[in-house]
Amino acid sequence: MVRFENVSKRYGPLTVLDNLNLDIGRGEKVSIIGPSGSGKTTVLRMLMTLEAINDGVLWVDGEPMTHMMQNGKLVPATTKHIRRIRAKIGMVFQSFNLFPHMTAMGNCIEAPITVLGMKRSEAEERAAELLNMVGLSAKKDHYPSQLSGGQQQRVAIARALAMRPKIMLFDEVTSALDPELVGEVLQVIRKIGREHDLTMLMVTHQMGFAKEFSDRVCFFYQGKICEQGAPAEIFGNPKNERTRQFLNAVL
Ligand code: ATP
Repeated sequence: MVRFENVSKRYGPLTVLDNLNLDIGRGEKVSIIGPSGSGKTTVLRMLMTLEAINDGVLWVDGEPMTHMMQNGKLVPATTKHIRRIRAKIGMVFQSFNLFPHMTAMGNCIEAPITVLGMKRSEAEERAAELLNMVGLSAKKDHYPSQLSGGQQQRVAIARALAMRPKIMLFDEVTSALDPELVGEVLQVIRKIGREHDLTMLMVTHQMGFAKEFSDRVCFFYQGKICEQGAPAEIFGNPKNERTRQFLNAVL
């Protein structure tokens, strides 16, 4: 569903991702863990085309996203091509990023109406279902400032799902929350994993959650995947010394 093929990302002299190869299957749940600065967030931002890649090709749902096929050759993609493919991806950020002047419902219907051209009534019906799924039916008319961090993050998840993505990216979505609010957001992510046929890629510091929820865990170190495998392998029997050191430090 997602493939990074020899992808590199540099900021000036700093190589943040170094010839990354990563294949994520349809419906697979993959957690990315690793020390600060290892390039985890950059992986998600490149998929969301918030960052351009320097080398390589990024594939989504069987098509190149950063490139297009022309006479059998890959050429750099047009903005229109990138937009069409990016529409298959939803992202939830650490800092919620809700529109402050719109209610929970308003946040969830804005893009379906303006980007997908959905009728307001249809968008509202879908948003109501999603807000119900994240346990916020009673708060649909509240503004972000009237919601707790955990509630805001649940609205952000509903808003991303309202665009009917095939792939969901979660970037440290519980890091900005008070500890007692983390559980409610993870609970919603578990539910989405169970009830929606989504490919999910998440950067997380919640090792317990990564262990229990993921099909695969990738440990990043200095812009490379240092080790990857089933959670039981990575957490129970890490092969790489760097992975062991990291897990000893955080667990
Ligand atoms: P953390 O866990 O702290 O969020 P991370 O593994 O997600 O870290 P990234 O945010 O992907 O790391 O950043 C990787 C490296 O790229 C870091 O050294 C960071 O300082 C650098 N970096 C990220 N964005 C930029 C930018 N816009 N300009 C220059 N350097 C950047």
